[in-house]
Amino acid sequence: MRVVLLGPPGAGKGTQAQVIADRLGVPAISTGDIFRANVSGKTELGQKAKVYMDAGNLVPDEITVAMVKDRLAETDAKGGFLLDGFPRTIAQAEQLRESLADLGQALDGVLELVVDEDELVRRLSGRRMLVDGEMIQRDDDRPETVRHRLHVYRDQTAPLSGFYESEGLLSRIDAIGEIEEVTGRALQALGAADGDKPSAG
Ligand code: AMP
Repeated sequence: MRVVLLGPPGAGKGTQAQVIADRLGVPAISTGDIFRANVSGKTELGQKAKVYMDAGNLVPDEITVAMVKDRLAETDAKGGFLLDGFPRTIAQAEQLRESLADLGQALDGVLELVVDEDELVRRLSGRRMLVDGEMIQRDDDRPETVRHRLHVYRDQTAPLSGFYESEGLLSRIDAIGEIEEVTGRALQALGAADGDKPSAG
């Protein structure tokens, strides 16, 4: 299955992406994670991306699209994938469609995680991640950057919802609740609920 996970920062995309991808048996590909790994590794790509990330802005499409295209060409993505955090602009969505067409592929579905804005701000300002055994706040989770990221989302990414809806690919799910509850809604929306669950053992 080839799936895109859409949703504002703080909607729980990262967590859901891992769980849903596991259940579908496909790799979860997070552009944010790839950028953060490059920032930590101090690669040239990381140094370029960091400037935009720290300000809560999107990394330019030409950098991001080329990176995703390479990642989708890797062997583990041949049978399917779940994209987390990409596309984030209409231009990226169009490029994704082209890259997939070049590979003779197309998306099967787009899931949008819906969470109201007060809840997003509350979640993001309290969010911490584990780095080298320490719980730290992401630079871009600081309150002023959070507000800017939400603005960038509304402005540049939210229009993707209409874009994919008009292609008949979009399912919106309520992303408030226990992790498993939300995963259940997601799998149901994708038509991959319990019937397809790999049996234990
Ligand atoms: P995320 O972990 O998805 O919240 O991404 C963290 C940051 O990485 C974003 O605020 C952007 O600066 C950058 N980023 C991630 N994915 C994209 C993308 N598809 N296009 C542009 N920038 C991105």
